[in-house]
Amino acid sequence: MSVSGLRIDQDFLLLLLAFGIHRYGMYLRLAVHAETGCMMKQAKMYESHSHTPLCKHADGWPDEYALVAEQRGLKGLIVTCHNPMPNGFSAPVRMAEDEFDRYVELVSRTREQFQGRVDVRLGLEADYFEGMESYLERQLQSAEFHFVLGSVHPQISEWRDRYWQDDLFEVQRTYFHLLAKTAETGLFDSISHPDLIKNFTSSQWDPERILPDICKSLDRIAETGVAMELNTSGVNKTISEMNPMPSMLEEIAKRGIPITLGSDAHVPHRVADGYETGLNLLKKSGFKHVSFFLERQRQELVIDDALESLITPA
Ligand SMILES: [Zn+2]
Ligand SMILES: [Zn+2]
Repeated sequence: MSVSGLRIDQDFLLLLLAFGIHRYGMYLRLAVHAETGCMMKQAKMYESHSHTPLCKHADGWPDEYALVAEQRGLKGLIVTCHNPMPNGFSAPVRMAEDEFDRYVELVSRTREQFQGRVDVRLGLEADYFEGMESYLERQLQSAEFHFVLGSVHPQISEWRDRYWQDDLFEVQRTYFHLLAKTAETGLFDSISHPDLIKNFTSSQWDPERILPDICKSLDRIAETGVAMELNTSGVNKTISEMNPMPSMLEEIAKRGIPITLGSDAHVPHRVADGYETGLNLLKKSGFKHVSFFLERQRQELVIDDALESLITPA
């Protein structure tokens, strides 16, 4: 009894020891993983769409956005506030012409402040509006932009005055035609939130019905070599999904049109918001790479590498 009891105790001790080593090993692996996991994560991604208070409808200065970019494991932040336009064109939602220099200076100061931490670059979200091409051309030459988004904003009063009609399906067709024209100007690097119209014509939004028109526009855009954007802020809009919708994203991928990713942050905490979901959606839609622009030159990353580089918020 005592012999077998001793053996049981020995076995028990051995079991405890083995369990202890196993647990210790597990903790050790976890600790090493946690250490190296953070230390070895190399920042690769950029936030390619963010705003400043100069456009009168965003909060937080670029340094606050850069701080979030750093926390999310991004390599850089491209500030792309709404461009000035002439003669009071949609003035309430964009920086004034006489604030342009301040904007350039603001981004440059933030770049210096974050040197070695976050690569802060000067960009712009510029409205495309027919007839304003030469104004935009001059504007885009007036500073050293790294990335220029071309936007059609159908919600602004000037756009509505010019293009709106009772038949909302026709309004949607006009919008997609203008998206292609935006790319054809050759002024922009990427076409932002490229199905934004759905939120302002939601009662008549029928993805299947409009898709043939979208495809015609995408054929034209593919010819230009201009990229398009997956904008994660769409989930917060009337039709709650990223812009563009999944079926359009698949058509973009089929045509080999490069894709940029942006959160369209109007508050600092939205920097890189939805990036993991967005990157997975891109993969599912047929993309292998995600693009961003530096010095107006397209760079690309393998989506899996981009995903791995991000630090997911707790
Ligand atoms: Zn926009
Ligand atoms: Zn924007």
